[in-house]
Amino acid sequence: MKKFNDKKALKHCLLEYKNKNKSIGFVPTMGALHKGHLSLIKKAKEKNDVVVVSIFVNPTQFDNVEDLKKYPKTLKNDIKLLESVSCDVLFSPSVEEIYADKIVSKKFIFDGLEHQMEGKFREGHFDGVGTIVNALFEIIEPNKAYFGQKDFQQLQIIKKMVKKKNLAIKIKGCPIFREKDGLAMSSRNVRLSKEQREIAPFIFKTLKKVRKKFGTKSVSEINEWVENQFKKQPLLELEYFTIAEEKTLETAQIKESNKKYRAFIAVFAGKIRLIDNIRLKN
Ligand code: AMP
Repeated sequence: MKKFNDKKALKHCLLEYKNKNKSIGFVPTMGALHKGHLSLIKKAKEKNDVVVVSIFVNPTQFDNVEDLKKYPKTLKNDIKLLESVSCDVLFSPSVEEIYADKIVSKKFIFDGLEHQMEGKFREGHFDGVGTIVNALFEIIEPNKAYFGQKDFQQLQIIKKMVKKKNLAIKIKGCPIFREKDGLAMSSRNVRLSKEQREIAPFIFKTLKKVRKKFGTKSVSEINEWVENQFKKQPLLELEYFTIAEEKTLETAQIKESNKKYRAFIAVFAGKIRLIDNIRLKN
């Protein structure tokens, strides 16, 4: 695997591939890699000649200083994992390489997608995401880029950005990779205490029950039921639960048969914030 910290050197290397008509698949990450990330990389390997993975803990997308400071960093192990799935190129720039001396995000309008859910609870988060993904797209200019449905709102926002900027990049959404007990894999899971880790699968168990209830119960009945479930769980604090339409991410009030819906959830286990979502069938 080729490794770069320097964007010019990376661009030079990628130009050689592009001149040979090789397709480039790109997987942006913040490192502390797990099987969820590897599933994206494997998908990219199947569909492209060359796979580039970036590891960059992007400061402008964190609304919480402590979360940024404590974000797990495991570069040595990440490199081993990347080599195990035959990743071709790693780009792991410094903050200065990306932001020079101005660590600020640009402002983006994603036609309202940015005001829902994560946008309400993490101020400036999607401006930070837009800034870094756009910067990485400009450096790498991939043919395809792979994002997890674990961050479904982010996936929709990146699709919107590509459409608005008219970029020639295909955005591919990949399914959520889970632990055996259903907990969605996340770099933050390693920070959970033993007790928190034991109770955390409750989040997905609740979402699965929501999927069942969606056939027979109203949205407001389901909202109330979820809130009550979490009131019985002292180790988990519900931040939000929303049933939203997939395309606009607007909260659903009533079910319409021609629309696709998902249930989205954010929960605190102590100071660790976990998110998950599930596709619903009407
Ligand atoms: P992160 O390193 O958390 O920024 O994630 C990098 C990419 O991996 C994003 O597109 C995430 O949505 C995706 N990802 C993270 N966790 C999972 C998972 N459990 N299953 C599938 N994709 C994931």
